[in-house]
Amino acid sequence: MGERTADGGKVLEVYAAIDVGGTKIAVGIGTDDGELKATEVMETDPNWAKDEVLDRVAGAVVKVRQEANVSNQDLVRVGLGTPGPLDGPVLLEASNLHNWRGLNWQAGLESRLHIPVAVENDATAAGIGEWMYGSGRGTNHCMYVTVSTGIGAGIIVNGQRYSGARGNAGEFGHLVMRPDGLSCPAGHRGCLETLASGTAIQRTGRERQSQSPYLMTLNQVETRDVFSGYEAGDGVCAAIIDEAADWLALGLSYLVDLFNPEIIVIGGGVGTHAPADYRERLGNGIRRWALPALGEIVRLVPAQLGQDSGLMGALALAVMEN
Ligand SMILES: [Zn+2]
Repeated sequence: MGERTADGGKVLEVYAAIDVGGTKIAVGIGTDDGELKATEVMETDPNWAKDEVLDRVAGAVVKVRQEANVSNQDLVRVGLGTPGPLDGPVLLEASNLHNWRGLNWQAGLESRLHIPVAVENDATAAGIGEWMYGSGRGTNHCMYVTVSTGIGAGIIVNGQRYSGARGNAGEFGHLVMRPDGLSCPAGHRGCLETLASGTAIQRTGRERQSQSPYLMTLNQVETRDVFSGYEAGDGVCAAIIDEAADWLALGLSYLVDLFNPEIIVIGGGVGTHAPADYRERLGNGIRRWALPALGEIVRLVPAQLGQDSGLMGALALAVMEN
């Protein structure tokens, strides 16, 4: 990547990064050393037709490219992370954006921008970001797990991302842990998300509010309140967090036994802001439920990229395509 200048300095290559979310899309220009030069965030409108989405996103790429003083021919590639499910570069479903169903990110943006576009689901892209620029640097077998309102995973094996046949590998949150459990938005029952996500913690907090001296004083219990109660020593909150952590650890032990990772990077709002005891409990659960030879060597670490993880993931994806 890049060439060397006469004084031995490396010429950095320039890429565009696009992070598609349910309510907004972030666009950035960055270099292969992982520095974002210019970024822009736009609110999305569910009423936009597919062509309008593509026109606006392509327009935002041109705008940030100009802000970063980069010519179109110096832009090597675009990386894009999007919620799934996907069929390769095509969005099959979009939970709150029905008009976008069938949107082909790759063909639509390549015809507008005239540079190659690489597409992955958002958790895979964020995983590539942590592996290339964050907590997973220097490893060859890295699992990235994001825990927020939902749960997803990005899988790096043998120094390569694992995307699956159609780009949907890593739907970790939909592993069914209790077939008789609660319904999930994808239509089945008892998956990990219903037991261990931020949404699950919030739901259980509301269910047990009247039993908790800490929560009973609140109007509306949010996920973060359950964590605050936990840190304040409230027994009900502690039980809720411990149960969620144990379910997640059980899921993680499956990842450990399947992939023998060196490292598991825990990101997302819950994963990043949870108290240290939470990660410790995850580690204990993994050592209890994974085979000892695999469970004992895996390191569990918090994600580093925080707010920018989506854009950094898209940037890393673009760089990785080389
Ligand atoms: Zn599910």
